[in-house]
Amino acid sequence: MAQEFPTQAQVVIVGGGIIGCSVAYHLTKLGWRDVVLLEQGQLSGGTTWHAAGLVGQLRSHANMTSLIKYSTQLYSELEAETGLATGWKNCGSLSVARTADRMTVLKRTAASARAQGVAIEVISPREAQDFWPVMAIEDLVGAVWLPGDGKANPTDLTQSLAKGARSRGARIFERVRVTGISVANGAVTGVETDRGAICAQIVVNCAGQWARKVGQMCGVSVPLHSAEHMYIVTGKIEGVHPDLPVMRDPDGYIYFKEEVGGLVMGGFEPEAKPWGMAGIPDDFEFALLPDDWDQFEILMQSALQRVPQLATSEVKKFYNGPESFTPDNNFILGEAPELKNFYVGAGFNSMGIASAGGAGRALAEWIVNGAATMDLWPVDIRRFATFNNNPRWLHDRVKETLGLHYAMPWPNRELDTARPFRRSPLYDRLAAKGACFGSKMGWERANWFAAEGARPVTQYAFGRQNWHDAVKREMKATREAAGIFDQTSFAKLLVQGRDAATALNRICAADIDVDVGRSVYTGLFNARGGYESDLTVMRLSSDRFLLVTGSAQAVHDADWICRNIPADAHVTLTDVTSAYAVLALMGPRSREILGRLTSADLSNEGFPFATIREIDIGYATAFANRMTYVGELGWELIVPAEFAVGVYEALHAAGADLGLADCGYYALEALRLEKGYRAWSRELTPDITPFEAGLAFAVALDKPGGFIGREALLEARAKGVQSRRIVQFTVDDSEPMLWGGELILRDGQPVGEVRSAAYGHTLGRSVALALVESPLGVDRKFLETGRFEVDLAGEKHAVTVHLSAAYDPKAMRVKA
Ligand SMILES: Cc1cc2nc3c(=O)[nH]c(=O)nc-3n(C[C@H](O)[C@H](O)[C@H](O)COP(=O)(O)OP(=O)(O)OC[C@H]3O[C@@H](n4cnc5c(N)ncnc54)[C@H](O)[C@@H]3O)c2cc1C
Repeated sequence: MAQEFPTQAQVVIVGGGIIGCSVAYHLTKLGWRDVVLLEQGQLSGGTTWHAAGLVGQLRSHANMTSLIKYSTQLYSELEAETGLATGWKNCGSLSVARTADRMTVLKRTAASARAQGVAIEVISPREAQDFWPVMAIEDLVGAVWLPGDGKANPTDLTQSLAKGARSRGARIFERVRVTGISVANGAVTGVETDRGAICAQIVVNCAGQWARKVGQMCGVSVPLHSAEHMYIVTGKIEGVHPDLPVMRDPDGYIYFKEEVGGLVMGGFEPEAKPWGMAGIPDDFEFALLPDDWDQFEILMQSALQRVPQLATSEVKKFYNGPESFTPDNNFILGEAPELKNFYVGAGFNSMGIASAGGAGRALAEWIVNGAATMDLWPVDIRRFATFNNNPRWLHDRVKETLGLHYAMPWPNRELDTARPFRRSPLYDRLAAKGACFGSKMGWERANWFAAEGARPVTQYAFGRQNWHDAVKREMKATREAAGIFDQTSFAKLLVQGRDAATALNRICAADIDVDVGRSVYTGLFNARGGYESDLTVMRLSSDRFLLVTGSAQAVHDADWICRNIPADAHVTLTDVTSAYAVLALMGPRSREILGRLTSADLSNEGFPFATIREIDIGYATAFANRMTYVGELGWELIVPAEFAVGVYEALHAAGADLGLADCGYYALEALRLEKGYRAWSRELTPDITPFEAGLAFAVALDKPGGFIGREALLEARAKGVQSRRIVQFTVDDSEPMLWGGELILRDGQPVGEVRSAAYGHTLGRSVALALVESPLGVDRKFLETGRFEVDLAGEKHAVTVHLSAAYDPKAMRVKA
């Protein structure tokens, strides 16, 4: 009997691909029954049906790995629950290396797999061939074997998830197109469809490559763009059997899996072919694009080298299907910052089958709890801003993102396409000085400055890279004279109004209701006591606060703050990022340099640490905030954009004879790590408390009125011993380079992972901050009594734990 079309529902999900069905499945599993899913065609008929169905668990971020680990568990159990097969086969997977650098990547992967609890084995080419007899191995250096990986049938999986959702009350309607999203007072109120309107408390956009268009129906940015994505299916090949593992050969950009005695062979070519520039047709259902053997050539050539039998096997089918890709190759999840109760789960970058289980559960929990239940920053919708939704920019960027799956994941690898994007007023000046730019939140930022005559181009490597000495010079200048850092990319939020102090004090963990002119470093915590942000709050007047936060956090932090301001409070928040440049003048001679340009009193008494003043600098009037992220005397100069060039030139003129140098973000990173300063999204995450981070001093647990997260923190404190802690290490040997992601061992056993690392030239060795975990508790004794090592692509190096900052200028000067 046909279901009656509803006029209201608690949740409406737009899109019946694997993601929409997984969200419906998990919402109902969490007890929500009134769930309606609308699909314009038939379930799985968008992108899902033609996926190859590979499910590889290991990702660079531990929580992303845990999502896929959950997918594999779900896919193995779903048939028992729903009675519908999923095609899940736990066949394991191999990744092979053609070069020594790739083998380093695989060995690093093996170490992080150990840290993340994923079974993995480093094996020889011969052993790989035992698993995969049809491949040629003469050119291979080695391989890894992941026994927990597998493959699934995407259409069957989708149907099975849909059946599970239906069995718990979800109603699924095919052939219903959502034509509009209704909105009132900044919140979603329902959807319009070609069968009538449905009122809904919550709408979830799981419309795959149509998700950008669905977002545009209600002013929500969903930055994704389609690209053509291809594979072939061969006839039977001798030696190929149903238990054959999945095989990836990333140096050749290709993957293989068994299908009906033949091979599926596809890949991720370095330069992809964007598609759908004029919009994605609504009726693109169970449809494919024309074969493109020219585009496929690079994959085919490489596959012939790996599996010589392909030369004589029949190609039964060429699949060319469009898939949506995002600017950073991570999917998009969460409640849209532009519209309350409107959620997005889209942009799966050819990982939608692998990710669907975990991503569907994570999004369902986010909806039911009204907040993410774990650190999902790599996929959080708030890492993007409206400007990321620019179609031309997206078109140019996705040419590169598709290929990233198999491109060499060099440390500090930058994306090259669709740049320059956002530029500071000083961009041209810094370029003329030899800046090598990286990109963060779209901003072009100087990473390092080439010596005169040298080319400012990074040459990637796992050892020392070509900028090693440049960064040494910049760090030395900052430690011994002064450095100038263009930190214009900092996000700046102006919070104003009668109730601003009260509202902010509830959102911030430190006491920010301070005297005018004070700056306060503070964490912003979620209800679990984890870091939603850490930032500086500067009180400009009784009812006006300037917040300076990380470059990537503008949208996220503005959203977090706004959603926690009471509805009746008199407070406004304005993003003033573009109005100000920030020049950080850091180093022992910074006072002398700035003193030559201003009439302000810069003495310790006249301008103490953690204060902000509006001062004259040359012809300009700007804010100066006495703070440091490098562990030296210094000021962050917050300069109206139009005065930025003037201040920069004046500083250089004033500092030339005192050793002032231009410095970049690589130096900044190394300087902060020497000092042990934590960074949000690396050490400080939504899953880490200030006790675990070692930042309890920046939390005013007893301030009147409390703050968000206080109860959880009191509970954590009452527990006493903590099982995790952020710890600073230096490598005893001065030679090795650490990049982050490395495994930490205590007495030979895995206990943690490096979150950030750099070469500390002042210390003369690599320095890192790592998250160390142990069920026995990570206390002083645990840290002092263990023998700690770091695993660098399989090689173990002794490290020293630092319970106070490894770089201590006073101690060092005394020594000197
Ligand atoms: C060639 C190829 C190979 C792949 N191989 C793999 C692989 O091996 N492993 C892996 O993990 N991933 C793979 N993928 C990726 C995977 O297929 C996708 O990531 C996944 O299917 C995305 O699922 P989705 O639900 O987001 O999108 P879709 O399946 O496209 O679902 C979105 C649905 O929304 C519907 N819709 C859109 N607009 C509306 C509207 N207005 N009203 C109602 N309904 C609407 C559409 O009709 C569509 O059915 C591959 C992709 C391709 C192209």
